[in-house]
Amino acid sequence: MQGLLRRSVLVLVIFLIGATGRSDVASRDTTGPDAPIGPLLDPAAIPESAIPVARAAAASRSGTAMRFPFVPEPEYITSPTNYWAGRDGASIDYIVIHYTDISYARTLRAFNILASDVSAHYVIRGDGHIAQIVAEGDTAWHSGNVWYNRHSIGIEFELDRVTNPAFTTEQYYAGAALVCAISGREGMPLDREHVIGHNEVPGSTHTDPGPTWDWPHFMWLTSLCAPPTGATVHASFVSESPYPEVSGDDKALVSVVLRNTGLTAWRRGTAQEARLGIPGNSKDLAFLADGWPAPERPAVQEEDIVPPGGNATFSFRVKGAAPGTFVVPLRGVVDGGAWMDDLGIFTVVTVR
Ligand SMILES: [Zn+2]
Repeated sequence: MQGLLRRSVLVLVIFLIGATGRSDVASRDTTGPDAPIGPLLDPAAIPESAIPVARAAAASRSGTAMRFPFVPEPEYITSPTNYWAGRDGASIDYIVIHYTDISYARTLRAFNILASDVSAHYVIRGDGHIAQIVAEGDTAWHSGNVWYNRHSIGIEFELDRVTNPAFTTEQYYAGAALVCAISGREGMPLDREHVIGHNEVPGSTHTDPGPTWDWPHFMWLTSLCAPPTGATVHASFVSESPYPEVSGDDKALVSVVLRNTGLTAWRRGTAQEARLGIPGNSKDLAFLADGWPAPERPAVQEEDIVPPGGNATFSFRVKGAAPGTFVVPLRGVVDGGAWMDDLGIFTVVTVR
């Protein structure tokens, strides 16, 4: 009798653990991280078979529905226990990339347990869903280094043997969009001196984000959505067509090629679009214009995307409106951000 009772209790305990494991995953499928965050389960207590691989909440961005770049909309999850209010006056100068090594659900629970001593500002699930755990103005405990915690924002990417065995396209997109948004808020350059791995924090004993994290791909994505600023917009001279000579009502084509030596991509039709401008925004030479986008902007980039290191072609026509020789100074500009380096470029239009 006694023995039977003990066996029943044991069976009941196992059943409860199994049930908790299932509801854990089910909550992700139906209500997402809004579900109450319970105590951290000992992962060893949950058989792998009890954790379905299924994921992706219905409301999340996924697959073709996720267009990059986009404005990230993190889901704010309240009541974290592991953080310090404020940053003790420190500025936000770094973004630290991590992976969780446990499932998204367990990560959120761990951050909610004081004894775990860990947290991060953001956690990005395998399907690209972004949870915000700690406000950016507060200090999360993610880097193992107080100074870096004060000066950084920590982003955890779900990487878990069962729930998300490899970084996904959606995670890269969501992470890059988030990093771009932070960069815009903080005026932080998006380069590898400011966006670092946990392993790169001085004194770190951690190896994340590890060898499968594709840094070049991630930084390329951030260049597509980074806010263009004086710090990130740069160009060098590549080539220019011969000075045009026209007569009467003739028209001539001028082409200038610039290399993007900055940190942000030039994207046609966006706030990152590169244009060829007249320095000082002078409209005095507009009488030469034939089809310019604006009196002080002779041309826009021809390519859809010019990544850092790529070349952009700017072509425009001039017309022989009045006889004379006219020097047209030219300088690249991203009107959503900044003028490019002044490379002393000009063309000389001779009208007979
Ligand atoms: Zn880490």
